[in-house]
Amino acid sequence: MGRISPLMRPPESNEARILLGPGPSMVAPRVMDAMRRPMLGYLDPDLFVVLFEIQIGLRHLFRTENEVTLALPGTGMSGAECALANLIEPGDRVLIISGGFFGERLVEIARRCGAEVHPVRAEWGTQVEPEAVSATLRQHPRWKLIAMVHAETSTGVHQPVEPIAELARRYEALLVVDAVTSLGGMPVEVDACHIDVCFSASQKCIGAPPGLAPITFSPRAWHAIEKRRTPCQSWYLDIRLLWDYWNEPHIYHHTTPASLMYALRAALEMIEQEGLPARHERHRHQAERLWMGLQELKLELVIPPERRLPMLSVVRIPEGIPDGEFRLRLLREFNIEIGGGLGEWRGQVWRIGLMGHSCLAHNVDLLLSAMNTLLHQYRSG
Ligand SMILES: *Cc1c(COP(=O)(O)O)cnc(C)c1O
Repeated sequence: MGRISPLMRPPESNEARILLGPGPSMVAPRVMDAMRRPMLGYLDPDLFVVLFEIQIGLRHLFRTENEVTLALPGTGMSGAECALANLIEPGDRVLIISGGFFGERLVEIARRCGAEVHPVRAEWGTQVEPEAVSATLRQHPRWKLIAMVHAETSTGVHQPVEPIAELARRYEALLVVDAVTSLGGMPVEVDACHIDVCFSASQKCIGAPPGLAPITFSPRAWHAIEKRRTPCQSWYLDIRLLWDYWNEPHIYHHTTPASLMYALRAALEMIEQEGLPARHERHRHQAERLWMGLQELKLELVIPPERRLPMLSVVRIPEGIPDGEFRLRLLREFNIEIGGGLGEWRGQVWRIGLMGHSCLAHNVDLLLSAMNTLLHQYRSG
């Protein structure tokens, strides 16, 4: 009788997986417990109290006073669709800053909205230079919007918002920012940077389960939406319909996933209690511990420190280490998940996430020790 390969063995306990990939991140017991509360109907006044508290928590997290701030019933990509579908009308000229996989998704969504899309791309692993953006903007009049990814999760590169925001103001274009990976792990300044639409996801640095996409619209964005000549191409993500449900007169639009809302409210309470500066510092500090440890293991960090994200680190897979098998052994033998490369970098890099409740000293130590053990086995043949 053949032995069952240890790689095929199913998990023997329901011990929490150590999630150190590009998301989802681990969920704190307090947030999981919040989902056990009794179900509420979508017009229950008690549910509107939960939604109201979520709005307050999200405004604080986004650092905005935008009234139109809510959580969409969908993952991060629903935030991208909602932002672009509500702002873009067919024929609008838009500029998309793309340095990786998620930037390309914005390009594709904008095209499907019927925009005349001008992508400004950077080589994977580098930032898009504001000069390149400016050069493209100069070529045409009347830009409807500029969209960018703040934390490009496919490459681990930080694309600073301020220089792009300045260009958006100069050319009177709206600014859309994908803060899916950054929000809750590093500063995202919606009002100070004049971001018009910013969206995120519940399952990365916010620390809730996947399924909700926080989003906020500036008064300027709202005005542009009110001036539309054509209805938003997405009925489900039409922000005006969604707002009439979240706000007075609370008209039914869809069935609210109440359990996820309870979880998001609990996660936002935890963020409030920790405080944003302390939370950002925790992400930075644990990232630095991880980087030091990885370097001690002779692993190469692909992104130089000045543009490296704290919550997502990219390392080159060393020569002779089998990507898939290594990650499967981390999972099966050590209960740890890390991410593989995406798109162009598939099979070339590992992506290690330290997001939200996953971002703890204990998890950094567990990963480094597990990687040390496995690398030693492969390197000594
Ligand atoms: C994860 C991610 C998304 C997509 O979020 P989903 O929740 O998987 O839909 C979009 N943009 C960035 C930068 C991301 O990291």
